[in-house]
Amino acid sequence: MTDPCEEALHELYHFLDGELTDERRTLITSHLDGCTTCLGAFDFETELRHVVAERCRDSVPEELRLRIAALIEHERFEASE
Ligand SMILES: [Zn+2]
Repeated sequence: MTDPCEEALHELYHFLDGELTDERRTLITSHLDGCTTCLGAFDFETELRHVVAERCRDSVPEELRLRIAALIEHERFEASE
């Protein structure tokens, strides 16, 4: 049995390196779209934003991009306290 969250976290490194196929990338983005636990655990704001902006411009739903942007702002706010 594989924890889908664990798998998503593992795949994300390849995702960030641009090593995943379109199919795998879709799996990761769809997981992130539905799993705020994973989305909140990703501690590489710059890379994530870079990937979203540069590599997944066409494959990441606008709604997810906005959600990631909101999450980044939220974490920034918490970190500054
Ligand atoms: Zn997850």
